[in-house]
Amino acid sequence: MQSQKQYIYSVILHAPPHITAAQLLQLCRREKADLAMGTVYRNLSALCEEGKLRCIETPGIPAIYDTTLTPHEHIICRRCGSVRDVQLPFALDSLLTEAAGEELTDYSLTMGCICPSCRARAENEK
Ligand SMILES: [Zn+2]
Ligand SMILES: [Zn+2]
Repeated sequence: MQSQKQYIYSVILHAPPHITAAQLLQLCRREKADLAMGTVYRNLSALCEEGKLRCIETPGIPAIYDTTLTPHEHIICRRCGSVRDVQLPFALDSLLTEAAGEELTDYSLTMGCICPSCRARAENEK
């Protein structure tokens, strides 16, 4: 039998990239109506610990789960919350390691913006 963790992992793999736990719960409930939020959270953090998911935590907004594990950073629209991947033209982790003079266990970088569609909407409202 498929475990809940395998089920949640298979749903997130087919979901849009950069999903919150609440959005994922909605998708899961189409098939498993009685799935609890706590179960989703517990399995998401287990999957992050196993390195199958990346969790992007930004103060003030819900954590975002990402199935793309290759190095990349994120830019988040401060109006609508949409998330886009950003490929840096250099390896940030080695630059940071050098600057800090320590072997880093982790770092976080999230850029904020007003995305083009929110900007266009703001222009129209003027
Ligand atoms: Zn936006
Ligand atoms: Zn991403």
